[in-house]
Amino acid sequence: MNYQVPRGTQDILPKDIRKWHRLEELIRQFTHLYNYDEIRTPIFEHTNVFKRGNDSSDMVNKEMYTFQLENSSTSLTLRPEGTAGVARAFVEHKMFGSPDLPAKLYYVGPQCRHERPQKGRMRIFNQFGVEVIGAKSPLLDVETIALGWSFVSALGLQDMKVLINTLGDDASRAAYRQALKEHFQHDIDTMCVDCKRRYEQNPLRILDCKVDKEKEVMRSAPKMEDYLTEESKVYFKEVLEGLDALGIPYEVDDRLVRGLDYYTHTVFEVVSINKEMGAQSTVFAGGRYDGLVEYFGGPANMSGIGWAMGLERLLIACEAEGIVLDEEEHLDAYVLCLSDRVKKEALQIVTELRANGYRSDTDYLGRSFKAQFKTVERKHARIAVLVGEKDIEQGVVTLKDTKHQTQQTVALNNIIEGMDAIFAADEEGCGCGNENCTCGHHHE
Ligand code: ATP
Ligand code: MG
Repeated sequence: MNYQVPRGTQDILPKDIRKWHRLEELIRQFTHLYNYDEIRTPIFEHTNVFKRGNDSSDMVNKEMYTFQLENSSTSLTLRPEGTAGVARAFVEHKMFGSPDLPAKLYYVGPQCRHERPQKGRMRIFNQFGVEVIGAKSPLLDVETIALGWSFVSALGLQDMKVLINTLGDDASRAAYRQALKEHFQHDIDTMCVDCKRRYEQNPLRILDCKVDKEKEVMRSAPKMEDYLTEESKVYFKEVLEGLDALGIPYEVDDRLVRGLDYYTHTVFEVVSINKEMGAQSTVFAGGRYDGLVEYFGGPANMSGIGWAMGLERLLIACEAEGIVLDEEEHLDAYVLCLSDRVKKEALQIVTELRANGYRSDTDYLGRSFKAQFKTVERKHARIAVLVGEKDIEQGVVTLKDTKHQTQQTVALNNIIEGMDAIFAADEEGCGCGNENCTCGHHHE
């Protein structure tokens, strides 16, 4: 029997959770600033939500966890991505009828893909994604990129680059697909099995092949830009001008086609160019899609733009740039119980401290004074509250100030006043003379 996590999955332990909380806080903050609302969709959906017609992507063809329960004819799939579920929900709840279009949505949560696990590539990973549905404007493409860009910038990431391309409208893509088919027709037999499938399903995706990418026939392939309709060219130009206006640096990459078939016009990837990143360097990626809402039975004119960010990869990128997201946390108080007979009083005191906003804990193992004091040090407790039998008889406890190494006796009903006075003094400055002093929890 194997009681380890399945390959490609991980536990996120308490020692690492603060990084995640920090990311989640920042996600809430930025989506709030940009006026995006959260949507939560199920973690599995009917398979045909993800598998739409003759989709050529690896994700749909090879990476989905699809299952069918006994006695059921329903095929379900663990979600591999967020966009499809959000578009399905947009239609199911008739959000297209809202007076407040476009809907500006975001999501955060796990995705499941059956891939070969590597650094930055997992079978369960977490994505933060945004979708703006119900309006088609190049400036919205710019806004979503700006949201992601300002988010990673706020984290302190600097080695980031926006790669952008256009796939044009349907007419542009149809002409380009035809040109690619002609270009590859003599060489397709020598290319990988995925390329053979792509040749039939969606020759555009051949350009995304990681196996055949060095081949001469790839290098000499026709370029999208020569097949763009006038309208598609104008659209792309406006996206780039918008990025310029916001000072977001980018590189046009005419080989960028992205993994999903539903994209039209703008596609982009924001990558880390830090040397430590390894092969999995795309932090967030997305594009515009036109047909998805209609596929789910909604109106035809509901275009969307969105991206998804891999949070594990984001953390790897932060680490590569030496960005520390988890500052050490302190306890405000640790209540030391000096005798078994004062257990109840210690419990009352720790409860009162918490009720007054002081992050506190106490000992439940009946450990020695010395062992309990070790905890005070390990948890960097600002105050040690010493509760002894004699003290309780006299109606007092001792507050030991671990920063200034002083102590005072306070009446049981004055503990909070005592704490308040110490923390108020901390806020005014601790007298250490260092203006960046971080010794007291209540400084910020
Ligand atoms: P790749 O080319 O690396 O397989 P993708 O095109 O499949 O990426 P998307 O579907 O665009 O990726 O997902 C958006 C983001 O989610 C990626 O840029 C990446 O940060 C993250 N991501 C995708 N797949 C994984 C995975 N298996 N493990 C961890 N993060 C992932
Ligand atoms: Mg992939």
